Amino acid sequence: MRIEHLINGKPRAGRDYFETVNPANQDVLAEVARGDADDVNAAVAAAKDAFPAWAAKTPKERAKLIRNLGELITKHVPELSEAETNDTGQTISQTRKQLVPRAADNFHYFAEVCAHVDGHTYPTDTHLNYTLFHPVGVCALISPWNVPFMTATWKVAPCLAFGNTAVLKMSELSPITAARLGELALEAGIPAGVLNVVHGFGQETGEPLVAHRDVRAVSFTGSTATGNRIVQAAGLKKFSMELGGKSPFVIFEDADFERALDAAVFMIFSNNGERCTAGSRILVQKSIYARFAERFIERAKRIKVGDPLADDTIIGPMISQSHLAKVRSYIELGPTEGATLACGGLDALDLPASLQKGNYVAPTVFVDVGNRMRIAQEEIFGPVACLIPFDDEADAIRIANDIAYGLSSYVWTESTGRAHRVAAQIEAGMCFVNSQNVRDLRQPFGGTKASGVGREGGTWSYEVFLEPKNVCLSL
Ligand code: NAD
Repeated sequence: MRIEHLINGKPRAGRDYFETVNPANQDVLAEVARGDADDVNAAVAAAKDAFPAWAAKTPKERAKLIRNLGELITKHVPELSEAETNDTGQTISQTRKQLVPRAADNFHYFAEVCAHVDGHTYPTDTHLNYTLFHPVGVCALISPWNVPFMTATWKVAPCLAFGNTAVLKMSELSPITAARLGELALEAGIPAGVLNVVHGFGQETGEPLVAHRDVRAVSFTGSTATGNRIVQAAGLKKFSMELGGKSPFVIFEDADFERALDAAVFMIFSNNGERCTAGSRILVQKSIYARFAERFIERAKRIKVGDPLADDTIIGPMISQSHLAKVRSYIELGPTEGATLACGGLDALDLPASLQKGNYVAPTVFVDVGNRMRIAQEEIFGPVACLIPFDDEADAIRIANDIAYGLSSYVWTESTGRAHRVAAQIEAGMCFVNSQNVRDLRQPFGGTKASGVGREGGTWSYEVFLEPKNVCLSL
């Protein structure tokens, strides 16, 4: 299979191609056009040309087309989820039941929101101020390889619904479903040029895109290192930066033990551990630490690792060989820093012949981790849990905040007062209390500190995809 760029509604061949492979067995899935600055220029020009007519449509007209796209995604859930699983190694139980259906929800939701964009009025004795919101123009949307389809739609849906046009660049490691998104958008009736898709590598394709002078806003999801680089290359533009995380999952002695255990296992091992909001630092109060560690290790040992297309697989392969090497390097590092390897590790897994070449790693648990160790401070982005004991509430908050990142956080306690106190003091863009990460599309999604700038979701998406204008009228 060949995947081309999609520019102005038409496939555009690459000057060169790269391969995208199935991480479960290294089979080549497609040859993908390798974008360069010329491709980017053509895509931005198409988006710029398409902008006036798209922005001039009424929100209801746009909403109808956006909704069509949501319906088409729903119709294609089996195809899209299988393609996503093959391209990324994310398990089919996640892609089919959660991630691809959520992509359809994104379009349905923003079809509603765009028809009800609100504003503010500030009347005084002499003047009336009110706010108008205008689309920004051409937006660069850049996605990572973990949950790529959902992340892309999370950007494309508000971007287009609010009247902007887009150039979408997916990760070179997971381009397949985005290519389908471009085709489905055309099928939904979204005019040519409104959504353009370019494929390729960060420096060759992503950088000319963010630096392009006709791009007015950049919505980026990816690593903190790339986010920093993009801000420098892009210059003055509107930004939404959804970056890395190393989120604390704090369990107090008065927590509902079994529910906290379930959620802790889920938040580090689901999505292969390749999840920006993973609860990768599991902070447990000392009085329950030994019991919790024992049960957590027992659960981790039972997790099924294997074929991501099998319904009962919990952990599939890591996205790439180089990412696998990175995850393994942290597993090697842990014991040298003084952490105890409780289960998992680097030994070969017992896998069928068909998966022997896959990028597999065992679910791994480190206990008695010190928060200043590198395994606790750096984003591993794999199925590696760090259990960290703490003394009391103040100690838990201190450890939770002693980190460069601030994306998500999780607090487990049956004390209402403690829940509110800790939620208020924890340095993170999101805090889930007695809950795993449950997404409400109205909530501000994003992080603080090294985890990002700006928020997306609901009216928070105005920040990057709409330009507010104050009108001041003398009475
Ligand atoms: P990455 O930063 O390596 O790449 C992300 C995207 O940026 C890719 O499409 C890549 O090609 C592109 N890119 C790379 N260099 C570029 C450059 N110089 N200019 C423009 N584009 C460039 O990240 P990744 O490894 O694909 O994804 C994993 C990271 O994403 C993790 O750190 C994870 O936490 C983060 N993430 C964050 C969120 C969130 O919402 N905060 C969600 C998912 C993933």
